[in-house]
Amino acid sequence: MPTTLIHNITTLVTNDQSLGKGALGLLQDAAVVLDGTRVAWVGPTADAPAADEAYDAEGRAAIPGFVDSHSHLLFAGDRTQEFNARMEGRPYEAGGIRTTVAATRAATDEALEANLTRYLAEALRQGTTTFETKSGYGLTTEDEARALRVAGRHTDEVTFLGAHIVSPDYADDPAAYVDLVTGEMLEACAPHARWIDVFCEKGAFDGDQARTILTAGKAKGLHPRVHANQLGHGPGVQLAVELDAASADHCTHLTDADVDALAHSETVATLLPGAEFSTRAQWPDARRLLDAGATVALSTDCNPGSSFTSSMPFCVALAVRDMGMTPDEAVWAATAGGAAALRRTDVGHLRPGARADLALLDAPSHVHLAYRPGVPLVSAVWREGTRAV
Ligand SMILES: [Zn+2]
Repeated sequence: MPTTLIHNITTLVTNDQSLGKGALGLLQDAAVVLDGTRVAWVGPTADAPAADEAYDAEGRAAIPGFVDSHSHLLFAGDRTQEFNARMEGRPYEAGGIRTTVAATRAATDEALEANLTRYLAEALRQGTTTFETKSGYGLTTEDEARALRVAGRHTDEVTFLGAHIVSPDYADDPAAYVDLVTGEMLEACAPHARWIDVFCEKGAFDGDQARTILTAGKAKGLHPRVHANQLGHGPGVQLAVELDAASADHCTHLTDADVDALAHSETVATLLPGAEFSTRAQWPDARRLLDAGATVALSTDCNPGSSFTSSMPFCVALAVRDMGMTPDEAVWAATAGGAAALRRTDVGHLRPGARADLALLDAPSHVHLAYRPGVPLVSAVWREGTRAV
């Protein structure tokens, strides 16, 4: 693969404090050299080494590609009517997931993969170069395993979420469903996943059930992440910290003890403002988490029920406008924060050696992601060294 010099970048976010100013490691009048799938060099345009090919950024800003560490893209159907009803004043309940389960079970493998590919392309156009995605709309051994197999053809960050809700087939016997998830279903799914996740919430799984499921997953080599404290206070965050989950996701309703636990752990608080936007719910308090010293990530939670956006720039804008984050903090959370939530060191930054994932913005600075909400600012994307947009 030839080397590529991207030069004349007005503001470059490296996310490495040793390379530039502040937490984002900002460099002005910068250049980046990509060699194969990796970043080979970062510095001032004036000092840039020669490369086989050159790309003039013409004064645009550049950021590491977004790391979307939480999505649900293995689904069929949509829930326009549910969204419409909710906007007319009816509250969101976890039970709405059943609609998607029925549509997903009825879909062919080809339809499921075509849907996934479509939303991945949509996310890529908006600068997402790493994404995690989950099963959770099959809820049978066969349907969960096939979702993971399809996902695995597109990303390494695959999460087994058989414990999304209790399968409608087990409505009268949730304990038997937990047995299935921790037994035959886990056996079939573990080879196709890196992570195990549980929706620990009233109406889904309680703390004891969630612990049983996550512990069983760990024994099979899967690492935990938890849907925690989205709809109300609960044991999810504490359980995530107790089990050294990579991330506690949502974190909307937190006690002081929850915030403290996150701040003194390696568990990232992943905030998903698309969900609060789409359900007109209370915003998570990012400021409180950051001030306490917790690591915060931002992700889309892209799913057809409660957050049907694939846009990381949209989440950045919401986090700045409504969750008390500065533009710098939100951009860090959407890149380096997402990488931390996936325990990845090769993405989310642009140090030499990083995976060559970079987005150019039609703007002089990354702050425009929040300053110009809803505007398609991402104008070029490289993923693993290849120009993808
Ligand atoms: Zn989710």
